[in-house]
Amino acid sequence: MTESGPRPGEAEPPVLFEARDLVKRFRTRRHVVQAVNGVSLRIPRGRTVGLVGESGSGKSTVARLALRLLDPTSGELNFDGIDLMRVSRAEMRALRRRMQIVFQDPLGSLNPRMRVVNAVGEPLAVHGLAKGRALVDRVVELLERVGLSSADVYKFSHQFSGGQAQRIGIARAVATDPDLIVCDEAVSALDVSVQAQVLNLLKRLQAELGLSYLFIAHDLNVVRYMADEVCVMYLGQVVERGDGDALFRDPRHPYTRMLVAAVPEFAPAEGKGRRSVPRGEPASPSDPPPGCRFHPRCPEAMRRCEQEAPVLRRIAADRVVACHLFDPADAPPVYSPVPLPDSLPDSTEASAT
Ligand code: ADP
Ligand code: MG
Repeated sequence: MTESGPRPGEAEPPVLFEARDLVKRFRTRRHVVQAVNGVSLRIPRGRTVGLVGESGSGKSTVARLALRLLDPTSGELNFDGIDLMRVSRAEMRALRRRMQIVFQDPLGSLNPRMRVVNAVGEPLAVHGLAKGRALVDRVVELLERVGLSSADVYKFSHQFSGGQAQRIGIARAVATDPDLIVCDEAVSALDVSVQAQVLNLLKRLQAELGLSYLFIAHDLNVVRYMADEVCVMYLGQVVERGDGDALFRDPRHPYTRMLVAAVPEFAPAEGKGRRSVPRGEPASPSDPPPGCRFHPRCPEAMRRCEQEAPVLRRIAADRVVACHLFDPADAPPVYSPVPLPDSLPDSTEASAT
């Protein structure tokens, strides 16, 4: 956990990626699924932002929106100063060289008879970065970088274990020398010991290559290990955001407290007696409850929570929470519903804390 958190004396690196007020609704035959409902996040260069929340909270949808693999219903996306909502399809395709994704099962979508050289080399070929002998050489270099060897280059992807397959997926993601990698449940299918190796590989590559990660997982331990800053999602919304370690040590939103209390390693000793076990199931995103979406499950719900949706407010230097328990009338909302054209939201918040 040593690398996470603010680094004293260091200026915050520039923002590489920013999403503002992302909304995604899926229209199915019967419903409108409100999968993502006003999510904002910002990833500084070289840092890791974690996204955690129960299954169905909208994490994968955020991942796909971030890379414009899906079109948002509304919202803004900015990557290294480029407005992703205004680029053409061709420009977006070219930008994907700099924005990659690692899935839970990266080789699952590929033909099992595909050789490693093609699996890892495909993005190089697609972006016209290498071909022929140079492509093979680059793939060998990438395999060695992720802990595999030149002997693997002509093997078939189905010949590898889960951990090795994930290394191949990571080699494929870093092949084009990206700035941002979205990891969506990238280690969730692996055994704990293999998980640790792959997480350490991701950390090493981040240090060596200056990568920024949007790191998504439902497992709090995994996110805590990786993320400098964590966003907790519930039913399509961020309900709490803060420094990784501090957030898990001192969760404030009742939902985060519920998640943390369910992980034995995190439950504070003095809280053991009154440990809240996650209760109930999330509501359906096609029929979310009025007011605070969490109120039907919240042990501290008040009358107001049934009627009025809380907005994210800054409650400490490095913590924002959307909950009426922390809602003094004078605290300004963190992300204004009307986009502020020429000032970043944090600079306006800072004066208010
Ligand atoms: P998570 O990754 O946190 O488990 P997802 O982003 O996959 O959550 O899904 C969020 C919600 O959106 C879920 O209720 C899911 O069923 C729904 N959803 C995701 N993709 C689609 C789609 N293509 N069509 C309809 N509903 C979808
Ligand atoms: Mg998912």
